[in-house]
Amino acid sequence: AKEIINLLDPEPVIQRYQLQFWEWMAEYYMCSEGEVMAAALPSHFKLSSETILIYNEEFGDDFSALDNEEYLVAEALLLKHELKLSEVQQILDVTHVYPIVNRLIGKKLCFVWESLKQTFNSKKESFVLLEHEFDNEDRLSELLNNWGRAPKQMELLLAYLHLMKTQGEVTKTELLKKSSASDAQLKGLVEKGVLRIEKRSVDRLHFAPKDIFVDFDLTASQQEAFQKVQLCFDSRKVCLLHGITSSGKTHVYIKLIEQFIRKGQQVLYMLPEITLTSQIIRRLQKHFGGYIGIYHSKFSQNERVEIWNKVKSGELKIVLGARSSLFLPYHDLGLIICDEEHDSSYKQQDPAPRYHGRDAAIFMASLLQSKVLLGSATPSLETYYNAKQDKYGLVTLSERFGDVKLPAMEIVDTRTIAKKPGEKIMLSPQLLDEIKATAAKGKQTILFQNRRGYAPYQVCTVCGWIAECRNCDVSLTYHKFSNKLKCHYCGSIYPITATCQACGSDKLVQRSFGTEKIEEVLTTELEGVKIGRMDIDTVRNKNAHDILIQQFEQKKIDVLVGTQMVVKGLDFDNVDLVGILDADALVHFADFRVNERAFQLMEQVSGRAGRRDSAGRVLIQTINPKHPVLLHVLQHDYVGMYNEEIEKRRQFFYPPFSRIIQVQFRHKERDVVTDAAHVFARSIEVPYGKYLVGPAEPVVNRVRNMFLMELLIKLPRDSQLIARCKRDILNGCNQLHSEARFKKVVIVPDVDAI
Ligand code: ADP
Ligand code: ZN
Ligand code: ZN
Repeated sequence: AKEIINLLDPEPVIQRYQLQFWEWMAEYYMCSEGEVMAAALPSHFKLSSETILIYNEEFGDDFSALDNEEYLVAEALLLKHELKLSEVQQILDVTHVYPIVNRLIGKKLCFVWESLKQTFNSKKESFVLLEHEFDNEDRLSELLNNWGRAPKQMELLLAYLHLMKTQGEVTKTELLKKSSASDAQLKGLVEKGVLRIEKRSVDRLHFAPKDIFVDFDLTASQQEAFQKVQLCFDSRKVCLLHGITSSGKTHVYIKLIEQFIRKGQQVLYMLPEITLTSQIIRRLQKHFGGYIGIYHSKFSQNERVEIWNKVKSGELKIVLGARSSLFLPYHDLGLIICDEEHDSSYKQQDPAPRYHGRDAAIFMASLLQSKVLLGSATPSLETYYNAKQDKYGLVTLSERFGDVKLPAMEIVDTRTIAKKPGEKIMLSPQLLDEIKATAAKGKQTILFQNRRGYAPYQVCTVCGWIAECRNCDVSLTYHKFSNKLKCHYCGSIYPITATCQACGSDKLVQRSFGTEKIEEVLTTELEGVKIGRMDIDTVRNKNAHDILIQQFEQKKIDVLVGTQMVVKGLDFDNVDLVGILDADALVHFADFRVNERAFQLMEQVSGRAGRRDSAGRVLIQTINPKHPVLLHVLQHDYVGMYNEEIEKRRQFFYPPFSRIIQVQFRHKERDVVTDAAHVFARSIEVPYGKYLVGPAEPVVNRVRNMFLMELLIKLPRDSQLIARCKRDILNGCNQLHSEARFKKVVIVPDVDAI
């Protein structure tokens, strides 16, 4: 037994159920527990290299029993009394200092001081206080009545007294701002012994007062859905709320949240992307004020620790967040709402853990006995199937709020207006006319094009050369604003060339079109109509997204052009027209989910049209008007799409009928990665041969200078078989890595890959 040197945490940072959750995640998604921890725990909780060694006075200065390295550290300790681990690293010029540090602790030369409190810094703010002497009415009036010179100081004092009376406490920043006095004037009052300044720790997160204020009534059909969801929770853990766009799902959620927090429980409201939180948070804050915390990856580590502690103590009742908010230490979690459950952004890509927020939520709910409500207008096939199988409850909301109809859909067959066969039409005359007419009525338009940039590629018309990325196997996109070519896979930026790099000709044309180009064309075609653009390029800054949305809400923008970002869950009340500029791009790539995705995108973006007084219109530009997905979109027929697609999944043994594990191989050399994938596939072929698809090169077979190969394993839904297969995959990885040639091949298993 060793002596206890110091207590790390008076109580564990994480709870037992969290550890179980982490263990499950590592196992299920085939990664290490360390990788899960890195994703789950705010780094300010982790032991960092800022751990401090403190010299033990009792040790004295007899260093004769120390070896060389120990001596170096001891000497420095004696001199400076304490050392950070990073300083120890510098002294010894090695990274692994723990063995030496442990020896020094063992020899009682030093203690370690826990760094937890050191890395988390509470935020300090200066408060202004009245000196005790003047805390009494008589002394105060005496002071004011006999005020000599310095009228500005008196003004400042009066402003202070007024603020104090109205709000109970006053910070220095606030006082200076509201009284427009100077720092020197405040200092003068402090020197006179009238005011004093005190630093105090404050919350980084500004919480509104704690209030529950749910002031609306549900419509009859919403009320019915609300009751059905509750009824469903009596017997089931998970319920799907399939409500068409604008049916008021959020209102049903709010009533449910109210119910759970009135029982004293917590609620987690998950969204697929943080960009969506700004609109929802404003809606929720109206009803639940200071009970809500937001949690996602854009928060600083200090802020995360604060939220973490408030969730743990139960002070926060509602968390609104992206998938990572599943990792918070819930105190008594009653309900998880997983909004837009179909959205593929719920799945984490790189780095591990490659978990799906919805599926992980369902597992976590089983640990905590909480309920899960999945919500969507276009559920994922997997979820809808589970509901149809009676595994989940199913509640439908099939009317839009206020009896508004779903928008009228119309196809624009761009073949009929193309001048040459194969010519891409960006904005048909019909669409342009309707945008004009819509703006003239004071209504707004959303245009959806799933490509950002100006033109997705530049082609030489003489030899066919296309500008490509040097690191990736993809063509570059021209961005006019920066006048550069960009790779959307690795982010590399290239100067533009006026001439073809293969044949020297200057006959370069831009093929296809992105959001930036559309914005430019609209600006010249539609005089007096204000155009806004929303894609990754325009919302890079922290609040840019929110500002754009608010400008659109306040009708400062007439036409909003955007990528997928305009599709998702936004609620605007004045949009009359939606244009889908290139429907064909949505259905033309090889993936078993392509039709489901295309339907979801088109139905969701259509759903932005029409509120209150008008149903709205949707124009879809295509060269393939008979495509089965389009036929379902025209009818807003989710179930029709589902029935057709689920049959194909059954026939070709794709999820939900099978479970997919994708194994990706990455290496700098193409030959090596190709061989590695084949060797690996052969090594697991014997038991799983009939389930393997590939190995094959993915469509984009080189990213960031690494060549890629992929192997897909479609397993029957037999948990023992799946567990065995996961073990065999891991064994296969080890075996591969034991061969010198494949040592550096990166192998990435992705369970339930999307
Ligand atoms: P969904 O999320 O299902 O697309 P929303 O919850 O965004 O639908 O509701 C659409 C619109 O209808 C919103 O502007 C919302 O404020 C309004 N709305 C829905 N239900 C109600 C209700 N019961 N009372 C008042 N307004 C409602
Ligand atoms: Zn690239
Ligand atoms: Zn050329």
